[in-house]
Amino acid sequence: MANLQTVDDREETEAARAYLSKEGDGLKKLIHKSIQAREFAYCPYNKFCVTVDDREETEAARAYLSKEGGGLKKLIHKSTQAREFAYCPYSKFRVGAAVLAHDGTIFTGCNVENACYNLGICAERNAISKAVSEGYQSFRAIAISSDLHEQFISPCGGCRQFMREFGDSWDVYLTKPDGSYEEMTVGELLPVSFGPEDLTKKKVHAIQEF
Ligand SMILES: [Zn+2]
Repeated sequence: MANLQTVDDREETEAARAYLSKEGDGLKKLIHKSIQAREFAYCPYNKFCVTVDDREETEAARAYLSKEGGGLKKLIHKSTQAREFAYCPYSKFRVGAAVLAHDGTIFTGCNVENACYNLGICAERNAISKAVSEGYQSFRAIAISSDLHEQFISPCGGCRQFMREFGDSWDVYLTKPDGSYEEMTVGELLPVSFGPEDLTKKKVHAIQEF
């Protein structure tokens, strides 16, 4: 593939070398940061599940999206900026996403492919995972952008389920490169969905004859 970056192109820089040098204590810091990130783990299934009711929309996110603030336009623009970083040497299909957390913080993501094709990750899951890894689990909106000229970019089924994990009432903006968009909720994109609440519902304890 013509535009495929080889490992040889990715040279270790002086900054990274210096960071890891023994004098700088960088390795210790790197390990410490991984320990700090662990604190934000979203792993409700081996302990108690966080409920969707706990994740209330805050005034900050509402204000951000209000028409006066131009926030929605900015959110869409950030998704197009993230698209520029897409690592997609195989599909050459660039996607960017920008997710708005409850307090107005925005996290971006792009698709990141892999030579082992099925290990690639979509822009939407990338952005949401970045947010979760920094302590956010409550989202108000996500904007998605691609290079498709005549069509609003639509999230794949896997990403719809991934979004649904964090509630079904938040907004998804499917955009075109000219900034136009279609607004849908997660619930509209994934109706009759299965989510964390379903795991806590009443179950039978034996296979029933019928
Ligand atoms: Zn996807």
